[in-house]
Amino acid sequence: MNVGIVGGGQLARMLALAGYPLGLRFQVLDPAPDACAGQVALLVQGDYHDEARLASLAAWADVVTFDFENVPADAARVLEGRVAVYPPVEALALAQDRLSEKTLFWEMGIPTPTFATVDSLEELHSAVLRVELPAVLKTRRLGYDGKGQRVLRAAEDIELVWRALGGAPLILESFVPFEYEVSILAVRGRDGATACYSLVENHHRDGILRLSRAPCRMPELEREGWDYARRLLDRLDYIGVLAIEFFVKDGRLIANEMAPRVHNSGHWTLEGAETSQFENHLRAILGLPLGSTAALGHAAMVNGIDDLPERATVLAIPGAHYHAYGKASRPGRKVGHITLRADDPGVVRAGLERVLPMVGFSPDEFG
Ligand code: AMP
Repeated sequence: MNVGIVGGGQLARMLALAGYPLGLRFQVLDPAPDACAGQVALLVQGDYHDEARLASLAAWADVVTFDFENVPADAARVLEGRVAVYPPVEALALAQDRLSEKTLFWEMGIPTPTFATVDSLEELHSAVLRVELPAVLKTRRLGYDGKGQRVLRAAEDIELVWRALGGAPLILESFVPFEYEVSILAVRGRDGATACYSLVENHHRDGILRLSRAPCRMPELEREGWDYARRLLDRLDYIGVLAIEFFVKDGRLIANEMAPRVHNSGHWTLEGAETSQFENHLRAILGLPLGSTAALGHAAMVNGIDDLPERATVLAIPGAHYHAYGKASRPGRKVGHITLRADDPGVVRAGLERVLPMVGFSPDEFG
């Protein structure tokens, strides 16, 4: 069977690598001639608005999926009319706009930070009165890894953050003094079957994910997260993997955002779960039975930002696995990740103490 992927980054690359044992073939569409999925799948170089390229991808593929959520709506519509497209374009469109995403959470009784829409300086002033400070001003669209957002701590800063972000549609949210951040990855098949991975504990620096640990043994939070995830999957008639990121405050989950795709905080599942998020996404979109999401022991995933430590040094660490994405080093760019997996959590902890300094953090940076 043929799988087309819009976007040829590391997520597409890991989808293809997970799909070859299932006998699948892959084509990826990406404007960049060096898109890293092109090293392991046929790369069709082209703009996402290029109707001819989209039509030929649709003609070749049995199913088309995405490696990023900001696929232009017109491209998604061209595909949808010609081939099965999963996750559904409606879910994609919803997740592209922080306002519609948070409104959906709110309608479904999933807690979120207090939020208000902001389209002018006057609206920002009135939103600050409603949301209260400190708050975070974010662009509604195209923000990722902490880009397109500013923390607003004092009323004197209103004009300053407006100058930085004003002009685009914005959302102001209350700043959550969270205890930690977690995510839930869940998958829904074409037959409506669902499965959830264990709760993941996440640590960011400068808005970029640095470390994920799973399973995060907090059964009550996990049950709450699974309930939200299952309800969202059913509500969206979703097919594929969905990731939801939460803050944890006073023992409760507060939803930050969702990603309608495989997710960085699920990379540990390659070694740390019975079936990886990549394989389960493919199983879901192809109408195959879902695989078990059970965790295999304990896992930690450390992102390689800018560059990756030397391969042999990492592989000398018990339980370490090395994933280079074949990308050139560039500031702030995710170029690979390292997973530590072991039955004994002490082995994972000891491995982290060695890996974290290799990527610029102290061994006890993340507690
Ligand atoms: P986002 O792009 O919304 O995922 O935000 C990136 C990171 O910024 C999050 O993972 C948090 O660490 C931080 N952040 C975003 N929104 C808030 C908020 N409302 N309160 C506190 N921290 C936030």
